[in-house]
Amino acid sequence: MTHPKVVLTADRTLMSPYRGISLASFFGCAPALDTNRSHDSIWYHILGNQVTPRILFDFICNPIESINGHATYAPYGLRKVEASLLRDGYRKEDVVVAHPDYIEQFIGPETEVVGTYEMDPLGMGPVTMTFTYGRKQMSYDEFYNRELHYRINAAKTKNGSKAKVIAGASGTWQYNYDPAKIEEYGLYGIVEGDLGGIGPEIDGAGRRFFDALINGEMENANPFKKKEFKIEIKEFSRNGKDYHGRFIHYRDEPSVDEIPNIVNPSMHGMIEVMRGCGRGCKFCDVTLRPLRYYPVEKVQREIEINMKYGGLKNAWVHSDDIFVYGLNPRTTKNMQPNREAIEELFKGIMATGIEHTNPTHGTLAGAIADERLIPNVSKIIRAGADNHIGIQCGFETGSTRLIGKYADRKLAPYKPSEWHWVVKTAVKTLNEHYWVPAFTLIMGLDNDETPEDSWETIRLIHELETEQPDSKFTVTPLTFVPIGLLEKSEFFDIGNTMDPPKLGVMYKTWQHNLKYGIQKFMHKVGRNNKMKSLFFAGLARSLGGVPLSAMEKFAKSKSSEHVKVIERIKANYW
Ligand code: SF4
Repeated sequence: MTHPKVVLTADRTLMSPYRGISLASFFGCAPALDTNRSHDSIWYHILGNQVTPRILFDFICNPIESINGHATYAPYGLRKVEASLLRDGYRKEDVVVAHPDYIEQFIGPETEVVGTYEMDPLGMGPVTMTFTYGRKQMSYDEFYNRELHYRINAAKTKNGSKAKVIAGASGTWQYNYDPAKIEEYGLYGIVEGDLGGIGPEIDGAGRRFFDALINGEMENANPFKKKEFKIEIKEFSRNGKDYHGRFIHYRDEPSVDEIPNIVNPSMHGMIEVMRGCGRGCKFCDVTLRPLRYYPVEKVQREIEINMKYGGLKNAWVHSDDIFVYGLNPRTTKNMQPNREAIEELFKGIMATGIEHTNPTHGTLAGAIADERLIPNVSKIIRAGADNHIGIQCGFETGSTRLIGKYADRKLAPYKPSEWHWVVKTAVKTLNEHYWVPAFTLIMGLDNDETPEDSWETIRLIHELETEQPDSKFTVTPLTFVPIGLLEKSEFFDIGNTMDPPKLGVMYKTWQHNLKYGIQKFMHKVGRNNKMKSLFFAGLARSLGGVPLSAMEKFAKSKSSEHVKVIERIKANYW
């Protein structure tokens, strides 16, 4: 058997339909192993080193199907890379998007490159850092990524392959912080910077990139030459040992015409409508990219691929801020949404015949800046009581000081002093039209969050609950990660810098999610089957309660001030 020249893959956590619940993909952030667990503990006798039982995780993170070892659905970014190679003349048999369970069968003497798509390879993503107490435990993201690399290396040894293994996508920055893994996983190169992201920008270069890699043009550093691909050999010293890694940067961003359309189905029906975001939040790297919008026809072509070859009836629209779609940030005053362009986009999406669509991300200010926008779009996409529209929105912080300092244009056309009003009005507007925002907030933003900032966040969540008791939203706390314009800052160290009010923020968000989110959400999972519904509701109660009890235990181990904050929240903000 001849092996393909290029094998693309991703680990199980990125190759799962999560039983059709796209929000469950966050579950990869859950802790898998606690290697420091005392052998005397009762948990050790029940679970060994496992934290979230593997049997439970593997049930929720069910593997996608495969045909002859090929993944039937794959992360959108991998599909883009695959499409770029086929567009540029690679033959179909030269490029495989492999199911991780069958990776061994594709790696052989003829294989030149194995490319892995990695979003949180070492469990350092903000949600994961929160769940693993700053990586004191190993997350499932890291666990399965490690397993994938071990298997790739075993297959290379067994089959006599000299393939270069490269890691790409939005999580590769993590290797800078644990360079020992570069050696452990045998990585030839790490594709970094603007190449990352959900639709890696490498899809513009396609063949040029892979040919250069295969022909050995990326062997040596070339910092002074003006080349399309910049190679940097980074040296690291950790615990008395030296490591090095080859980091590859792509200097260009493709224009919309240079971005290929996917040719095989993407995971969760994801397609893309834009790249970049003009809002300029300092803690975000998306904003460093130029803004580009897909024309409606290009969006439709990708949806049609998902429908025709994947049988999908939904389109999950990747957008960094959907309410920016179609506007020119240089000439548009105050980021006023281009309502006509957004309406045309969604009309075009629905015209393909899909039954459901929702954007991945949008800003709260953008949602209410034009009062006809949400009502009109909701009508177009047929939002309703049995067709809720989920959207991830950056809540970031309740502190008007912090939001003004780090993300003032995120609020445009409003002012930082109006932030609380914007949040409340947007939740009301979105909910009234059957949209449910999934908020993310940043804990320890640039290590500049004061106790008063934290309490402002807790109060704002509580005000939303009490002033608008029927409001529907979830809140996920993320720890600060230095990227974007703040890449020179330090990580927020959740293990050591968790002062009492910050623990309070985390506690309040989980209490909210458990009470308002998880229980209702899990009921939905088993909505057609009473037993299933009861099972999932019970699961939600017990799983959701785990972080709250863990935080109470953590508070006791820290100080009486930590305990007092929890008690104050229970008494005043429950
Ligand atoms: S609005 Fe979102 S995508 Fe845009 S810069 Fe801010 S955080 Fe990044």
